[in-house]
Amino acid sequence: MNIDSINNGVVIDHITAGSGMKLYELLGLGDLDCSVAIIKNAVSRKKGRKDIIKIDAEIPVNLDIIGYVDPGATVNIIKDGKLVEKRVLTLPDKLVNVLKCKNPRCITSCEQELDHVFKLTDKEHKVYRCVYCETKAN
Ligand code: ZN
Repeated sequence: MNIDSINNGVVIDHITAGSGMKLYELLGLGDLDCSVAIIKNAVSRKKGRKDIIKIDAEIPVNLDIIGYVDPGATVNIIKDGKLVEKRVLTLPDKLVNVLKCKNPRCITSCEQELDHVFKLTDKEHKVYRCVYCETKAN
């Protein structure tokens, strides 16, 4: 795959340098059959250094996950070699099945079928807490 030219796919740009791998893992991009490229420490005029993820397929990406990892990132949807859509990200109020609660006594640790739900409780410091036991996520 030519990483500079994606015909149909998704480009996640302006990721804070060093967050690209975390995003890759949380989005489950390793499980995809299509080509995925991570460019680490690319030079950015805006940020100094940034990571970029290019997905060579039109797949729905979970904007909540991207917003959680890096609300400053941009998501570009490419169709026929052209940028057709730019998604703006915000810190999501709620995360469902993105993080797992670390509290061994939390109900989600024994009830396997329960959704793992975290709520944003402190926007300024980006603190998410489990809705069941209020344990902080990191
Ligand atoms: Zn919990």
